[in-house]
Amino acid sequence: MTANPIVPTIPFDDDGAHHGFLRLPYSRDDSAWGSVMVPITIVKNGDGPTALMTGANHGDEYEGPIALQELAATLKPENITGRVIIVPFFNYPAFRAGTRTSPIDRGNLNRLFPGRPGGTVTEKIADYFTTVLVPHADIVLDFHSGGKTLDFLPFAAAHILDDAMQQHACVAAMEAFNAPYSMTMREIDNVGMYDTTVEDQGKVFVTTELGGGGTATAKSVAIARKGARNVLIHAGILSGELETGPSIELDMTHDDCFVFASDDGMIEPCADLGDTLEAGDCLARIWPVDRSGKPPLEYRARRGGLLTARHFPGLVKAGDCLAVIADVKS
Ligand SMILES: [Zn+2]
Repeated sequence: MTANPIVPTIPFDDDGAHHGFLRLPYSRDDSAWGSVMVPITIVKNGDGPTALMTGANHGDEYEGPIALQELAATLKPENITGRVIIVPFFNYPAFRAGTRTSPIDRGNLNRLFPGRPGGTVTEKIADYFTTVLVPHADIVLDFHSGGKTLDFLPFAAAHILDDAMQQHACVAAMEAFNAPYSMTMREIDNVGMYDTTVEDQGKVFVTTELGGGGTATAKSVAIARKGARNVLIHAGILSGELETGPSIELDMTHDDCFVFASDDGMIEPCADLGDTLEAGDCLARIWPVDRSGKPPLEYRARRGGLLTARHFPGLVKAGDCLAVIADVKS
């Protein structure tokens, strides 16, 4: 069996705050014996639960990386019981390139789990988390946003799981995160996802979608910062009081929540994020881009609900996710 080649430069089990790297050997034209250096901070104080927190699983999503950089720079061992493992830039090559996938191997980290120890750079990162870091964790928080091509209402999410006890624990952690929206979801394509690997190991897992468009806002960063802190308090690791406000419960568990474009063109939004739609309402029109004098194609909601995600760039291609409509739980 191939061993994973990643070597951490800091100890996992020593008390204190340690800042270092996961060093992944990567021999290439400009560095014969070079490495990919994934930054990692581990803060530990005595015995207690372990939280594993990651941002930039996709390299163009910024709320998680910002909140986790701040946490790594400020979290003090004396304020915790247990351990916090912080990896602000999970797919580090993608993060540095500002792209969803890795420029080295085009790897979409969140579709390559559980990874391969002898695989591509992205597969090696996945395998290291599957076999080394996730097994250490009791609770896992993985930050996402829409990236350059999607924009979301800010929500924390828990998945529908076969194990009701585990799902209950994940929902409780999602509620502790306390984003403006709390989503119960089934993934449209869960094969290869980090989420699935973490949940299959029986861990408490929370993910997010906190905005998008390939940037962050002051509001979305504040949501990420508060959520990270709340999850650590909820886990019994960080001392302090939960900071809570209202959160609207949503679910997107039906196939007809998702609307995909079947045409190329230019998007005219007919509704904005957070708008309430009835089944049959126009959510977007797609105008032709290759001729004038033609009417647009209308895309309609297949069910009523809240417009929760939308395609972000002004141009769309057939097959792109155009919109997601979530149910508001009564
Ligand atoms: Zn993502």
